[in-house]
Amino acid sequence: MQTHSSEFRIIHQYFQQHARYDNSVSAGIGDDCAIINATPGMQQAVSVDTSIADRHFPSDAAPFLIARRALNVSLSDLAAMGAQPRWFTLALNLPQADELWLKAFSEGLFSAADEAGIQLIGGDTTKANTLAITVQVHGELPAGTALLRRGANAGETVYVSGQLGNAAAGLAQYRQGIREGELFNAYMNPQPQLALGRQLRGIASSCIDISDGLLADLGHILAASGCAARVDAAKLPLAPAALQAFTYPQVLRWALGGGDDYQLCFTSALSASQLQQRGITAYAIGTLDEGSGCQLLGLPRGMTITTTGFDHFYEPAI
Ligand code: ADP
Ligand code: MG
Repeated sequence: MQTHSSEFRIIHQYFQQHARYDNSVSAGIGDDCAIINATPGMQQAVSVDTSIADRHFPSDAAPFLIARRALNVSLSDLAAMGAQPRWFTLALNLPQADELWLKAFSEGLFSAADEAGIQLIGGDTTKANTLAITVQVHGELPAGTALLRRGANAGETVYVSGQLGNAAAGLAQYRQGIREGELFNAYMNPQPQLALGRQLRGIASSCIDISDGLLADLGHILAASGCAARVDAAKLPLAPAALQAFTYPQVLRWALGGGDDYQLCFTSALSASQLQQRGITAYAIGTLDEGSGCQLLGLPRGMTITTTGFDHFYEPAI
């Protein structure tokens, strides 16, 4: 910001005055550091993500959604670990102090924070040429229950929590000028799978959130766990809305290689019906084997996908 007084007014008006704290926060926004009281017996899960305008989201998108997306993308990492969201900080690089933009941004931020039960305890506000939003989230989980990437075993089943490819389809529609609907929402207003992540404690042997595409992210589980997978492309859950707007091979490519879906991919020794008995709905898409790498079955005739370099399918946002 240009002057100190407007910097502090902005912090107060759009962030500090809306922050509500439970008694885990001894000092929140307004001091040099936040002072938080971690819950005894719990481990802390910490993650930070930066979202840059016209790289991770369109700069002309609604500020309400930009804020929600920046926070929810970070929360998705807590979901993937099975952590309960507790506290977050926000570093904002703003090209200008546009009051209407800040008001809607603040409303979007606190709407997503309230949904997740996470408290804004501090941050940093600076003027910069490019709009960038950095969110650091802190979650808690009972010691030893984190859903790591490295626990998968041969013989287990690979699951995803929901439809894949929707966000990439929404981004493609966005480029065609479509700024509403289910697919646009999947891209611009993703929902972190927090409740599912917590339910998966003690049930999933490994877990990751799908931010870079299924094959890339499942690849991280396989590499960390030292196993191989066979994935049946015909079992991937796809959105009817995507299949109406685009061809099946295109949607399938997005499901395998598109990013930004923020569904969970996890492995478990339990069957889909055993998961169902525990109140967990997930789609079985493959099985784990000894070895390394991911083999894709069930592709449409004539369609080939190299299982390395998945990022080629995913054009950087915007
Ligand atoms: P300092 O100079 O000690 O770093 P700042 O002037 O950067 O303090 O910030 C003043 C207070 O406002 C601090 O408590 C800081 O955490 C908080 N703060 C600054 N920007 C934000 C923001 N965008 N969101 C939430 N809290 C913020
Ligand atoms: Mg500061």
